[in-house]
Amino acid sequence: MSETAATILSGPAPGRECGACNLCCKLVAFPDVPKPAGKWCQHVDQGRGCKIHSERPETCRAFHCEWMLNGGLTPEWKPDRARFVMGTYPGTNALAIILDPGAPTAWRKEPYYGFIKQWARTALVNGSYVMVMNGSRVTIVLPTADADLGVLEPGDQINIFNDKGTFSAGVQKFNRQTAG
Ligand code: SF4
Ligand code: SF4
Repeated sequence: MSETAATILSGPAPGRECGACNLCCKLVAFPDVPKPAGKWCQHVDQGRGCKIHSERPETCRAFHCEWMLNGGLTPEWKPDRARFVMGTYPGTNALAIILDPGAPTAWRKEPYYGFIKQWARTALVNGSYVMVMNGSRVTIVLPTADADLGVLEPGDQINIFNDKGTFSAGVQKFNRQTAG
């Protein structure tokens, strides 16, 4: 489990533009800027955009959140309205919902929570999952009670269990001693 990192995906859906949104410049880690997850990038010019737009690093240039990629999402899902950024977690097919520390409960409001639960059910039966990230704290969205896995560190592994259609989640901690 590494720090939230930028997802490099294909181009935006027709008609999608970031416009006044720049929430990924706060919530997403872009290693080549460098910037951590959850803190505004030093290059943000609030209300205007990126101060180094023409020379911005490749990971920023290539990053498109789920709202940009998925033309089926309605306007309230735009990150500057929703107050969270969604994207595929790097190296997995899990959907990551990255929370704004300033609005950590935004995803639990409607219409978001109902859809997120629905997506989680579909993901689980297809062998994937939906994770909510508040910094390094991870919650797995489950059909019944959501599973708070606590703070995950690099190398920790998320395990999803399916007991005859009843899903639960746990974390296998990375053993630094045996890893040398
Ligand atoms: S969060 Fe999405 S819509 Fe907002 S600036 Fe980033 S890529 Fe654009
Ligand atoms: S360099 Fe520019 S585009 Fe990249 S995170 Fe910083 S403000 Fe955003």
